[in-house]
Amino acid sequence: MGRRKKSAKPPPKPKIVQPLDQIFNCPFCNHEKSCEVKMDRQRNTGYITCRVCLEDFQTNINYLSEAIDVYSDWIDACEQANA
Ligand SMILES: [Zn+2]
Repeated sequence: MGRRKKSAKPPPKPKIVQPLDQIFNCPFCNHEKSCEVKMDRQRNTGYITCRVCLEDFQTNINYLSEAIDVYSDWIDACEQANA
């Protein structure tokens, strides 16, 4: 009785919402942060373009897809092309 509870920690601050566009390293020219992803949610299509070597790629996305998914699809496609 009468035990003092430890004061609760304050809730974590909400994460800053990431912008939809994200930047990745290029698998072709190996430049860092040269590939920009665009998510076209209306068309369910993701685009990625390297602004250094101008390689580009597009893939189908869904409402769960994120920029990293477009990028990893691109990497997969590159690996298959090289296989
Ligand atoms: Zn490139």
